[in-house]
Amino acid sequence: MLVNYVIDFSEGSKEQSDLLGGKGSNLAEMTKLKLPVPTGFTITTEACLDYLKQKEQMSDELNLEIRQHIESMEKRTKKRLGDAVDPLLVSVRSGSKFSMPGMMDTILNLGLNDETVLGLTQKTGDARFAYDCYRRLLQMFGDVVCGIDKNRFEEQLDFYKSKKGYQSDIEMQAEDWQELVAVYKNIFLEVTHQAFPQDPYEQLQLAVEAVFRSWNNRRAITYRRLHDISDSLGTAVNIQEMVFGNFGLDSGTGVAFTRNPATGEKGIFGEFLLNAQGEDVVAGIRTPQPISKLESLMPEVYQEFLTLSHLLERHYKDMQDIEFTIENRQLYLLQTRNGKRTAKSAFKVCIQLVEEGIISKAEAIQRINPTMVTQLLHPVFELDQLKNAEVFATGLPASPGAASGNIYFTAERAKQASEQGEKVILIRQETSPEDIEGMVVSEAIVTSRGGMTSHAAVVARGMGVCCVAGCEEIYVDEFLEQATAGGITLHQGDVVSVDGTTGTIYRGDIPYVEGDEWQLLETITNWAKEEATIGVKANAETPADIKTALKLGAEGIGLARTEHMFFGEERIFEMRKMILAESEDALMAPLNQLKEFQKEDFRTMFTLLNGKACTIRLLDPPLHEFLPQTEAEITHLADATQRTVGEIKHRIEELHEQNPMLGHRGCRLAVTTPQIYEMQVAAIIESALEVAQKGKDLTIIPEIMIPLIGSQEEMRWLRERLDQTIQTIFSEKNQVISYKIGTMLEIPRACLTAEKIAEVADFFSFGTNDLTQLTYGFSRDDSGKFIGAYQQKQLLKEDPFQHIDEEGVGALMRIAVDKIKHFDPSIKIGVCGEVGGDPQSIRFLKKIGVDYISCSPYRVPAAILTIAQEK
Ligand code: PEP
Ligand code: MG
Repeated sequence: MLVNYVIDFSEGSKEQSDLLGGKGSNLAEMTKLKLPVPTGFTITTEACLDYLKQKEQMSDELNLEIRQHIESMEKRTKKRLGDAVDPLLVSVRSGSKFSMPGMMDTILNLGLNDETVLGLTQKTGDARFAYDCYRRLLQMFGDVVCGIDKNRFEEQLDFYKSKKGYQSDIEMQAEDWQELVAVYKNIFLEVTHQAFPQDPYEQLQLAVEAVFRSWNNRRAITYRRLHDISDSLGTAVNIQEMVFGNFGLDSGTGVAFTRNPATGEKGIFGEFLLNAQGEDVVAGIRTPQPISKLESLMPEVYQEFLTLSHLLERHYKDMQDIEFTIENRQLYLLQTRNGKRTAKSAFKVCIQLVEEGIISKAEAIQRINPTMVTQLLHPVFELDQLKNAEVFATGLPASPGAASGNIYFTAERAKQASEQGEKVILIRQETSPEDIEGMVVSEAIVTSRGGMTSHAAVVARGMGVCCVAGCEEIYVDEFLEQATAGGITLHQGDVVSVDGTTGTIYRGDIPYVEGDEWQLLETITNWAKEEATIGVKANAETPADIKTALKLGAEGIGLARTEHMFFGEERIFEMRKMILAESEDALMAPLNQLKEFQKEDFRTMFTLLNGKACTIRLLDPPLHEFLPQTEAEITHLADATQRTVGEIKHRIEELHEQNPMLGHRGCRLAVTTPQIYEMQVAAIIESALEVAQKGKDLTIIPEIMIPLIGSQEEMRWLRERLDQTIQTIFSEKNQVISYKIGTMLEIPRACLTAEKIAEVADFFSFGTNDLTQLTYGFSRDDSGKFIGAYQQKQLLKEDPFQHIDEEGVGALMRIAVDKIKHFDPSIKIGVCGEVGGDPQSIRFLKKIGVDYISCSPYRVPAAILTIAQEK
């Protein structure tokens, strides 16, 4: 027995989009609402899947069911398919669950043939109209069913018009269309070696089969891949009585949105064409008029449309995209669906719908895709402009945004050019702390090496600057100041455009639109905060970044990387002096100087945060990262420290490590030179005391975080020393303050022994960058070279530095969380690696029971939204 293969519009509802497709379920819903929808039925997705499974054989049962539904349409319309006097004509349209513009197969005017076209002529008294309809059927049927190139028909139409000296289709007369019908039928014969089928039922069966098959055409498959739509859904086919927008100047067709899909502005937004059929609007042959024009042309139709669109929007509780046709001043609705929209429009419409009482705040939050936040905050290239743009190279989408400018290969040159008023793009093999001044002035940063957690990526994300990292295909010659990719060499000053959202670098200047809708974002973020069950903090240390983070909704700072505070010429110089010190005494002068810098920064930080949480991480990178690299810098340092160039080079060699990421860094630095951490801790506590003293009722509880701890012994030893330093300050100042000393979980051993470390740590934060590096054994700086190959060969689904590796790294994290919470459920556990800002990873992190995540400021709102959406 057949079930669910054909369903009348009057029997379905909007909830059935799996079975009826989006278009079909909404046509059914509108029919239920008694709106003016031409009568019809839907052949279901199940019928499609069955057809495809049966080796594309249409079953007799399905044919019979379709015939029965046509017969009931005939009763309702009092017309008959194939009737020579008053023929029923139908449209055949595809419609899957998700709208797939790549597959839109539509055939209009089906049922016309050499005989019924005469009936239509008689009935309407308009031969011009009837033959125009017939030629359209030939054209669409030829294209969709028989695969005849559309241009074959268009060429003949153009040829005919020019022969007659016509400028447009409007000038075509009845006999012209009649002649063209004959020409079109010949094309049919020539290409398919068969005449155009005259039997309307044969037309119908062939059309339905063609739509079924279109589910598996190349463009549909590609569209599904791109949009993550399952291949197993199938498409439905909608058969509907034709209404004619091309029936003279009292008829027309159009598309309208209930609000502006680009800006979200309230009010009908759309266009229409008089005397036209649906595809004329889309085909762009004639320029449509704005919908407001309809008001003066057909006021009563316009009013009715306004009323109906309002009703539909209320019913669907969302902005609608409506297709309509007017036949002889009679309005018909042919489709409604939730309108596709830009990020700005999505936010605005959600806010309006809440204000209008149509949806709740919680519903509004569920409707916004966290990736839209990016589009709202960062510039994006104009899509039209990208179509013809020339790609220079691609890399990792390290920090979103769009920028154009002149390329420079050193921070110094970038800075000079920017001072001259140029827009600058900094291209480097990789960046280091020394490049910071060049990075700050750049519109975008591009590196040929390094991954999603490389210096360039982390710093750019922090600043909200567009960045493409790890463009392995670019050969960057910093000496010759040129970059080569795909046989093309760009020189200093050449113009490129960088898309940090997709990881693409284009040649030339591409216009972009600014994303600065903070207000809209703030409203939605505040609503999301009410629903969010775990906290979101930010990774930030500079005043600008902290301000941005707070403005974007961060509840505090979850990771202030203190090494970032040693950037800048003056500070790095003191750092170098400290590294060169050969005795304890020599160490103290630069350390004291550095302490002053740090205190200044911490005071600003505590003041800006005004009592909000603040986790400060002590120095992490190996010291050699701070040492000079170029001859000029080495000479400068030698002069300033009264050493020889040879001595400096010797020290650089001494500090050289084969594997610096596994070497003398993090807490290991403090084990050999505890004075560095002692200085940092003193700076933190002293500045906290100073700020707390000034601000009445201000409670500052600094959280001091030690990086790279792997054992309880390391943690205990360091903690005791740091507690001692703090106690000394308290007694010197005769003042106390609460503070916490915790650690990062970024070494697998720390995860496996977390309950022991918990005995001596007040809090934890997962450093998933290092934890991923150490769990996979993939260098975070070099894995860009091979991760792409792993993905291509399907050995890795995704880059584990971008999205958490749930199976491996995630397993270690679960162990650590369980052990710590078992030891003491009140100990707070955060995540401050880059995956902490990735919506997909956040869903997992929330599941394993972390208390908060911390991410770069610009990722904060999307993180809050993701958490609010996960119940
Ligand atoms: C980490 O390792 O995840 C982390 C946050 O620290 P960093 O990136 O500074 O090593
Ligand atoms: Mg780390």
